[in-house]
Amino acid sequence: MKTFSIPRLPPCLLILLLAWVVVPQPTAGQDLEALLSRMTLQEKVGQMTQLTLQAVSATTGKPGTSHVLNHDALREAIAERHIGSLLNVYDMARTEAEWHSLMAHIDDITQTESRLRIPVLYGIDAVHGNNYLMEATIFPQNIGMAATWNTDLVAQASRITAQETRAVGLNWNFSPVLDVARTPLWSRFFETFGEDPYATAVFGSAAVRAMQEPGPTGYPAVAATGKHFLGYSMPLSGKDRTPAWIPERMLRDIFLPPFQAAMDAGLMTVMINSAEMNGIPVHADKYVLTDLLRGELGFEGIAVTDWEDVGKLVELHRVAATYKEAVYQSVDAGIDMAMVPYDYEFTDALIELVREGRIPESRIDESVMRILQVKKKLGLFDAAAPPPTARVDIGSEASHGASLQAARESMTLLKNTGILPLEGVPSVLAAGPALGNIPMMYGSWSYTWQGTDPAAYPKGIQTLGEELADRMEGHLTTAPWGSFHEPDRLRAMAYAADVAIVALGEVPSVEKPGDIESLRLPDDQIALVRDVAESGTPVVVVLFQNRPRIIREIEPYADAIVLAYLPGPYGAEAVADVLDGTVNPGGHLPFTYPRFSGSLVPYDHKPSETSDILYGTGAFRPQYPFGHGLSYTEFTYSDLTVDATQFDRDGTLLVEVTLQNTGDRPGRDVAHVYVQDHVASVTPAVRRLRAFTTVNLDPAEEVRLRWMLSRKDLSFIGRDMTSVLEPGVFSIHVDTLTQTFELP
Ligand code: BGC
Repeated sequence: MKTFSIPRLPPCLLILLLAWVVVPQPTAGQDLEALLSRMTLQEKVGQMTQLTLQAVSATTGKPGTSHVLNHDALREAIAERHIGSLLNVYDMARTEAEWHSLMAHIDDITQTESRLRIPVLYGIDAVHGNNYLMEATIFPQNIGMAATWNTDLVAQASRITAQETRAVGLNWNFSPVLDVARTPLWSRFFETFGEDPYATAVFGSAAVRAMQEPGPTGYPAVAATGKHFLGYSMPLSGKDRTPAWIPERMLRDIFLPPFQAAMDAGLMTVMINSAEMNGIPVHADKYVLTDLLRGELGFEGIAVTDWEDVGKLVELHRVAATYKEAVYQSVDAGIDMAMVPYDYEFTDALIELVREGRIPESRIDESVMRILQVKKKLGLFDAAAPPPTARVDIGSEASHGASLQAARESMTLLKNTGILPLEGVPSVLAAGPALGNIPMMYGSWSYTWQGTDPAAYPKGIQTLGEELADRMEGHLTTAPWGSFHEPDRLRAMAYAADVAIVALGEVPSVEKPGDIESLRLPDDQIALVRDVAESGTPVVVVLFQNRPRIIREIEPYADAIVLAYLPGPYGAEAVADVLDGTVNPGGHLPFTYPRFSGSLVPYDHKPSETSDILYGTGAFRPQYPFGHGLSYTEFTYSDLTVDATQFDRDGTLLVEVTLQNTGDRPGRDVAHVYVQDHVASVTPAVRRLRAFTTVNLDPAEEVRLRWMLSRKDLSFIGRDMTSVLEPGVFSIHVDTLTQTFELP
């Protein structure tokens, strides 16, 4: 017979051990249920309130001064008003030491003075690195990250960003932007992964996964935010936060897939679109915020408003006559937390609405539970978790290496008559506004919101002018920006040089301040290129820009054009690497580069959009097509095959192609796989991106690439608004190759 004996333990320990075994351990859900049941209405509604740092600050902490918290205001916010979250910086980035002391202050009040000690979520826009932390690693803006077509690199940048964010105690990142950039006029174009929904879904979900994977604490480094739900990026006027008119089919085809993919990747929070869609401000749209977001997408995380957007339902959108009515509309529609962000008007109004019975307390409980769950997932309740600083080396050499790699891989060679790479050129002239301008390399969300203040940037960032001067010592002359006022002098300087590098740029701007009236380049920049070119000296144009500015007028003057997007701290090095051939450019456009301000048509347009004034098919004539990007080597595609024999059985389609480097340098190319449906019950797009692979190849090296496409890849949103696949003729396009097949 088998026997066992209880080890000899002191009786009190034995009782404890037995109690532990017998009493079921509370699950995560039960913990939070118990907590929720102890919360007063004020404590619950407090959780739904988010204040900006400014509301609890004594000083701004402008450049050269330190930021000081207002202890009494912070105490009131946490201990008396029970706020669930804080956000932002007061005007500008802070140092690691300052963030630590700020977070310690918040934590101290939470632990010692608040009744339930519920930790605070602190949200920040760390959108290209933790751009509000002075020592952090900054990356190219998303539009440049997308131009690398390197999903692993997007993930790596997001991982580093998240870890460097959590390392100073910040636990909620308002990133990634999942809006699909369907109008180049929009001031937030550079924050997106481009115009294609598939690419945005791939890069966006990779970013979410990387940000939320367990960091050194064992918990997700931060909660990511998919923003802005939904339909923000195609305002009819092109201006920020103005009306969008997006029919349901387009919403489902273009704007929803990135959010769906991010949710499948575990996205913890979403931020709501500030603007109106189809006549209804999204913050008051129950169909979008409840039926679609919760019902259909099954999203269980936090839906936070954007900045002051409850109030905007009254002041701007005029769908509510009073603030209290706006609170009712937004909470009834489905928001969980209001980025108020300065006072307690939202909190007080919501308490009243519950007391009056207009909003049931059960509705409040739903939101509070979602907020508590995110806090729990992040480990904020776990006092035993290692400090978030553990093992994160902020701004490490390796992280900077990733930023340099991203900047290099993003560089997109739009035109080259053969002048690049510049090898052994005795005399170079450098000119242009971006030559000595750090903010133009970074774009907005860089140390300050708009990113325009050079004094707010860390010292020692290399400008393009300095980088070129270092590399071309003795061979470089620089024309100071402003000398375009003296075209004769400029022409003489250019005439004396063998090549002129002209660096154009757009002053950083975002959101409302970034609204523009035209995509045309400023007159002085057009004149600069023309004057330099009139000397007869070959011109290389380098573009730093927030969105594709029309370059039609200067393109003929340029022998080469390098699009640098907003590459960040290593922009100068990466551009110079491409110019002198240290790096073979491999970036490809994640959007269609328009030729005319009046023809802003994406690559996946409808067939009728190719119809021109002569009834030919020449109307779609962008400056450069989606996916365009030249190299110093040659790539040749051959032998595209499509095998549909499995399709009937398991719905898969095997696509293969051979890619060879047929030039004489190692290089990187991206193979894009497009699907074309020839005839469908809803007008089909001319092509839609369905897969891509990026490869590095040595000269003469070749690779056979293969992709498995699924039924979903051939489907579209049908007349009944659900996804359908109709039999018929399809084509697969890779590079200039096409294979056509029929699905029975
Ligand atoms: C922007 C959001 C941002 C928020 C917090 C808003 O104005 O639209 O994208 O996350 O501010 O800074």
